[in-house]
Amino acid sequence: MIIDEKKIWDTLAKKPSSEKALVEEILKKAMELKGLSLEDIPPLLRISDPELLDSLFTTAKKVKERIYGKRLVLFAPLYISNLCSNECVYCAFRATNKGLKRRALNYDEIKKEVELLVDQGHKRILLVAGESYPREGLDYILKAIDIIYSVKNRGEIRRVNVNIAPLKTEEFKKLKERHIGTYQLFQETYHRETYKKVHLGGVKKDYDFRITAMDRAMEAGIDDVGIGVLFGLFDYRFEVMAILQHANYLDSKYGVGPHTISVPRLEPAAGSKISEHPPFPVSDVDFRKIVAILRLAVPYTGIILSTRETAEIRRETFAVGVSQISAGSRTNPGGYSLDEEFDASQFSLGDHRSLAEVIEDITKLGYIPSFCTACYRLGRTGKDFMDLAKPGEIQNHCSPNALATFAEYLEDYAPENLKNIGYEMMEKHILELPSNLQEKARKMVQFVKEGKRDVYL
Ligand code: SAM
Ligand code: SF4
Repeated sequence: MIIDEKKIWDTLAKKPSSEKALVEEILKKAMELKGLSLEDIPPLLRISDPELLDSLFTTAKKVKERIYGKRLVLFAPLYISNLCSNECVYCAFRATNKGLKRRALNYDEIKKEVELLVDQGHKRILLVAGESYPREGLDYILKAIDIIYSVKNRGEIRRVNVNIAPLKTEEFKKLKERHIGTYQLFQETYHRETYKKVHLGGVKKDYDFRITAMDRAMEAGIDDVGIGVLFGLFDYRFEVMAILQHANYLDSKYGVGPHTISVPRLEPAAGSKISEHPPFPVSDVDFRKIVAILRLAVPYTGIILSTRETAEIRRETFAVGVSQISAGSRTNPGGYSLDEEFDASQFSLGDHRSLAEVIEDITKLGYIPSFCTACYRLGRTGKDFMDLAKPGEIQNHCSPNALATFAEYLEDYAPENLKNIGYEMMEKHILELPSNLQEKARKMVQFVKEGKRDVYL
């Protein structure tokens, strides 16, 4: 069993005699960077006292900085098709939404979109599609991946992550052969009864086929998998516990937990009542709490935040645990070429800023924008990645790599004022590195300035 609902409810129901002392003890344990158990989560979820909440956020910030330093990894979603045969009541792509302009990009159009993303400076793409492909079937997706990797302009895409419907093992093997990075799939809600209520038609109705997708991906050799929940559909306390159960299940069965966890919140989608009025709305404070608790529970797992959230919320959650963000996103197929046409979009966005604007903002906030793709290209994936990450050794690679990719961005794409701000901040970041890494980082940045590209350790 992957999700044990009874155990979740029973664990949530247990109340200790001194909640404050227990929370303090759990936060102390979290600082050891070894993660938390299922039993540790409910007291953190129950925190309402402002002082304890502050301690939770401060601890999450410390854990994040110990593991990730100041790095924030950037990517762009690429929606190639909004054709869909499912009936997810919260999504504008659902089959019965006749008001939506349907579109599956042809290969030339995909190429054009990728060229535009590459010209902005992106190096990582998340390929997204509805659950129905044009005549070619899965080959449509496979060819799209080949095209994305083939585009060479002033730069190129170095990692394609994929968020598409669950596949069979044999099909996952084909995806693996295309050298994808992470296979990402959200369970939407781990609560069976709610799952049934919000998935009214198509293959996605089958809860079990979806929750076992990561097993098939792992069996096919895809060892970087990303899980997630669509917050707002059901009680977030249950969902956070279930995420941890899923992560623990993968870890114990395959020796590696999820590479990433995504935390989308339900956003208004065309003609979807539930998306306008989520049955379990998650407040901004609770949202930060969710991110902070996940950061403490699975410290080495990346947490992804998309542009569904506003710039303000994004700023607040970077500090408590988010490690990867999308920027300059469009959620309609062809959105980068068409720019302002939103009538084919999946849901409305909260952050409409360009990649350059987001980079300027996070740079000024003291983060290092990173486009690094070194691990996956050197085969440091799945368990190999975690084996390096857990003793903290990955830091020796990550910080210099992040700075080298940031320098590439500054050299090739940044407007002049951002270039100045960027290099000023870079010097500060280098000085904050342990002395053995300072020289390495400086050398790598110098190589980039001299014209070398794709410099990594
Ligand atoms: N069609 C595939 C699937 O459903 O897994 C993959 C792509 S789907 C476009 C990607 C994700 O978008 C879904 O897993 C869901 O969590 C999210 N999504 C759908 N409707 C949304 C909404 N109204 N607000 C926020 N996220 C939404
Ligand atoms: Fe289709 Fe995915 Fe949207 Fe559901 S969430 S309607 S499967 S695109």
